[in-house]
Amino acid sequence: MRTLSILGSTGSIGEQTLDILEHSTGEFEIFGLGAYNSIDKLCEQAAKFHPKIVAIGNEKLETELRDRLDASIEVRSGASGLVSLAHEANIVMNAIVGFEGLKVTLATLTAKNTLLLANKESLVAGGELVRKIIDQKGSLIVPVDSEHSAIHQCLRSGTKSEVKKLILTGSGGPFRGKSIDELRYVTVEEALNHPTWKMGPKITVDSSTLMNKGLEVIEAKMLFDVDYDLIDVVIHAQSKVHSIVEFVDGSQIAQLSNPDMRLPIGYALNYPDRCNFAYGVLDYGSKLTLTFEPPDIRIFKCLDLSYEAARKGGSFPAALNAANEVAVESFLDHKIDWLSIATVIESVLENHDEVGLASFDDVINVDEAARSSARRIIDSM
Ligand code: MG
Repeated sequence: MRTLSILGSTGSIGEQTLDILEHSTGEFEIFGLGAYNSIDKLCEQAAKFHPKIVAIGNEKLETELRDRLDASIEVRSGASGLVSLAHEANIVMNAIVGFEGLKVTLATLTAKNTLLLANKESLVAGGELVRKIIDQKGSLIVPVDSEHSAIHQCLRSGTKSEVKKLILTGSGGPFRGKSIDELRYVTVEEALNHPTWKMGPKITVDSSTLMNKGLEVIEAKMLFDVDYDLIDVVIHAQSKVHSIVEFVDGSQIAQLSNPDMRLPIGYALNYPDRCNFAYGVLDYGSKLTLTFEPPDIRIFKCLDLSYEAARKGGSFPAALNAANEVAVESFLDHKIDWLSIATVIESVLENHDEVGLASFDDVINVDEAARSSARRIIDSM
């Protein structure tokens, strides 16, 4: 039986992972569950799934967690407690939100455990470090992001030299088709109202700005080692075609299903086999219309900014990611308006001086500097 740790178990991906595990009796032993703050949910999950270890990022909650859990469950805390779960399980689901997930990614790959990656920020900020470890250790990443899972599946129908292009699809988010004037006054609630996917708040705002797609372009480059010029984005409002791979003979292979994250999670958990429980199956018994259109990068500037940072490479993607996290947080706190998210990121990138990223500390330094820069820009707005 394979052992599994789920980091970020109380978030949307973590909960859906546990939901799948309820149906796959006996295939996985849940070794560790970890979350930052959501102690109530974490206790509920521990009572139901009986992990060996439970870790909580917020150290102040450690005693309370210990008191509330069965004495047979080991409790750890702090960032190091969370990361320790990545060392000891065969398979690690990294469903932590944002830059914090990078530590788990690096720890999992260094220990040569299989990484199921739902944390795209770790590949955006630390992509070059991650690639280095994979080259050295030969560790395996299976993407959980629906687009990358689709590409991972489509790539199985050809060799690397036969691949012409990766085409990432995106729903366009809640503001698809809106003009700049209409976007000036959109609210947090409107941004959080995604038309096809149910996700956490950070990624939902990222979807509304198309930054999510921008981060996914960088994620695709790091996962599949394909040039940025060969990664396209197309808007597909129905979220049924999750991405497409074009081969040299002109064939395009796509992966289709209804939007249900349990499909890519189940794929990642069971790879190289298939999950024997079906999610999101498309039904052709009623009329199904699929539409595709190019993204409007004059309005959704975050996508363009991502390509720009990606092509510059080095520390630019890490700065982009940090600036975005601060800008999205400020938008969610009603400190800046929706259009200013792109303005903040653009200014941070303009002021960013390229530095080499040889170590984890280098990435941390770039991340912190870009965050302070973003905060300064927001304060002056
Ligand atoms: Mg995605």
